[in-house]
Amino acid sequence: MIDAQHIRKSYGSLEVLKDVSLQVAKSEVVAIIGSSGSGKSTLLRCLNHLEVINGGSIAIEGLTMVASDAQGNAQYKSDQEVKTICAQMGMVFQQFNLFPHMTVIQNIIEAPMTVKKMRKEDILPLAHELLAKVGLAEKHDFYPSQLSGGQKQRVAIARALAMQPDIMLFDEPTSALDPELTGEVLKTMQQLAEDNMTMVVVTHEMGFAREVADTVCFMDGGVMLEVGEAKAFFDKPKHPRTQAFLSNML
Ligand code: ATP
Ligand code: MG
Repeated sequence: MIDAQHIRKSYGSLEVLKDVSLQVAKSEVVAIIGSSGSGKSTLLRCLNHLEVINGGSIAIEGLTMVASDAQGNAQYKSDQEVKTICAQMGMVFQQFNLFPHMTVIQNIIEAPMTVKKMRKEDILPLAHELLAKVGLAEKHDFYPSQLSGGQKQRVAIARALAMQPDIMLFDEPTSALDPELTGEVLKTMQQLAEDNMTMVVVTHEMGFAREVADTVCFMDGGVMLEVGEAKAFFDKPKHPRTQAFLSNML
């Protein structure tokens, strides 16, 4: 599903990802945790080609998007191929990023219409179905400014799903929310996981990581320090850095 190997990424002289590898199987839920600045968002953005890697390889659904040449430099496939490969992934950000001048339903149908060239009447039924799925069927004509943060984030999830991705990437989807609103978004994500969606979730929600994720990855200083099955990871973290991080989270 996702096979990222030996990813290197620098911003100028700052090496942010140092030989990071990540594998995600079909229907697997992977949580990525780690302290601020450890490279979690950068890794997610590299998977989705929102950032360009310097070295390593990324294959999505068996299709190689980028691989290193003999000198170790990353070589990307053509723009068209990269676009096609990335279209298999949807992404949800911390700051919802809804279009403020569009209603909820317009937000959801926009990308299928412009990117996939779908006809409005063909995408509308799915859009309404997805909106119902995230518990907001009656909000279709609302504008983002008329929604709570948790509702906005659920619209953002429905919008990403409208592109019918095989994989969903989440970058701290509940971090911008008031604590009482995080539950509804986590529940929506849990339902998605139960529907067998393949998911990579950067999160500070340890309860979600433990209960919903199959695998937990701990990043530290641009390195993937520890990867383990979720329950074992929390019950018996191996690395002292992981132990220290988890005890600070409690
Ligand atoms: P947080 O938990 O705070 O979101 P993170 O683990 O997601 O942190 P990243 O956003 O991936 O961390 O950032 C990793 C490092 O890369 C940080 O030192 C950050 O300052 C740096 N960085 C991120 N984006 C850029 C950029 N566009 N230009 C320069 N440096 C960047
Ligand atoms: Mg981040």
